[in-house]
Order: sequence, then structure tokens, then C-alpha cells
Amino acid sequence: MSTATLYVIATPIGNLADLSDRARDTLRAVAAVCAEDTRHTRPLLAHYGIDKPLVALHDHNEEAIADKVVARLLAGESLALVSDAGTPLVSDPGFKLVRAARAAGIKVSPVPGACAAIAALSVAGLPSDRFAFEGFLPAKSSGRRERLSRLAGATATLVFYESSHRIEESLADMVAVFGADRPAVLARELTKLFETVLDGDLAGLLAQVQADPNQRKGEFVVMVQGAGDDQAAQIAEGRRLYAKLNEHLPPSTAAKLAAELSGAPRKALYGQAADQGA
Ligand code: SAM
Repeated sequence: MSTATLYVIATPIGNLADLSDRARDTLRAVAAVCAEDTRHTRPLLAHYGIDKPLVALHDHNEEAIADKVVARLLAGESLALVSDAGTPLVSDPGFKLVRAARAAGIKVSPVPGACAAIAALSVAGLPSDRFAFEGFLPAKSSGRRERLSRLAGATATLVFYESSHRIEESLADMVAVFGADRPAVLARELTKLFETVLDGDLAGLLAQVQADPNQRKGEFVVMVQGAGDDQAAQIAEGRRLYAKLNEHLPPSTAAKLAAELSGAPRKALYGQAADQGA
């Protein structure tokens, strides 16, 4: 069995001082670094005075490259995996490589560090004993609302990644599906110059983002408090009513009636019905 190790190394999410000493030492020691975007990683490594051969490993070539990387590991070379920012595999490539390496009996070892979701959660002041990382929502509003409607009754804190292009639309859909007064926190540009953490309810956050173009710039983590037990029960009852009513009525009418009878937000009951104008 190979004694080589695949090190999965977290890199900073903004502040370059956040690369750990162990990450630096490991990057210096490995034979090569698999990187999501070599044009991004080369200057990053140069900043720390590290010059290593890089292997491009991104969403489009990971399947093909994984076998070649595993062959190098089996031949005894220790390698590193990094992504553009933060922890690889967290809304970033690497899952297929790690799975292939583990299947081949290679030791896969983490060198932990920054992760935007965890950094955001640590300053949000929302319940963090249970949270669900939901990554990026679908780009289209119909898909986004459907995904959100499936999460409306979840009681754990929900954590989403979002980009500047869609932050306003996504918050608007969250208001529609989760309700205007659901507590939420918006963490922007963490560890960077314009770091901002806004808290309030979903409608308040949307209003702040709409009022100030600067609040729409950069990278975002959106965290939404889970439904309370009463709200989760309301949504469950609303869904039960919706399913029953929809056997006899068009989806829009069924959703409207089920929302009225249960008190649940109409768009929390069924995303597609809601999109049809329910
Ligand atoms: N692997 C990374 C991690 O560990 O957080 C995430 C990579 S994902 C492609 C990029 C997304 O992470 C951004 O669109 C944003 O939602 C979030 N993100 C990354 N850096 C951030 C930062 N400094 N502040 C807020 N969110 C950030």
C-alpha cells in the first residue's frame, strides 16, 4: 500500500494571513498541488513564497484527472488539493478525487482552515447547535422557490451561499417562502475590507440590500433561523391540506385554501403551485 497522502488544504476566504502554518508547511512539502484554478492558486502560493507544480482539477475535468492523480499517489507521491478559496469540497471541486483516493486505499488528511459558512455562523448569533448547509440555490426563481419551499418547515438554521448577481432575488424569494419576519443574518465579504454582518428579519435584510448598492457587492452567506415548532407544525398541516385539496381543485386554489386554513405561508406549501400564481 502507498505511504503517500492526499492533503486537503483550506486556503483563506479573503485575508491572506488566514493560511495556517501547517498549511504552508504542507504545501511546501508535497510533490504537486491540485488546484481548482491554477491562475488563481499560482499567485496565492507565490505570496507565501511557495513554487510548486500545479495540476488543474475543476468541475469539468475532475472525473478524468482523478485517476491520474490517484496513480501518482499510488506511486508514492504526496499531493495537496486546494480550491480558489476556503475549504475544498465545500461548494467546490474535490469530492470525486477524494472518493477515488479513498477507494484506492490512499490516506486522505485534512489541513483545516477558513470556510465561509462556518465563519459566518460563528458571528451570526443564530442557533448553531443544528444547522443545514444548503450551498448555492438554483439560479432560476422557479427552481429556487421550489427548493426553498422544501426547506420552509426545517427547524435547523439554514446556511446558503450567494453571489452579488442574485442576492436581491434570493432574499426576495426567501421573504415569499419563509415569511417576512423570519430572523436571518447576512454575512458579506468576511475577513475582507468591507466585511459586513447584517441581522434582522428577512424583509428588513431585503430592504437594506435594496436601499444600498454597496450591500449588493461581494460574496455572501445568508443564514436563516429554522422554523419554530409551531411554524413547522403549521407548514406540515398546510402541506397535508394542500395534498388533499389538490385531488379535487387546481393547484393554485388548493394552495390558497390550504394556506388560509393552516396559517402557513402560501408559497411554503408547494413551490411550483406558488409559482403558478397561487
Ligand atoms: N470552499 C469555500 C468555503 O469553504 O467557504 C466556498 C466556495 S464557493 C464557490 C464561494 C462562495 O462562498 C461565495 O459565493 C460566497 O457565497 C461564499 N464566500 C466565500 N468567501 C466569502 C467571504 N469572504 N465572505 C462571505 N462569503 C464568502
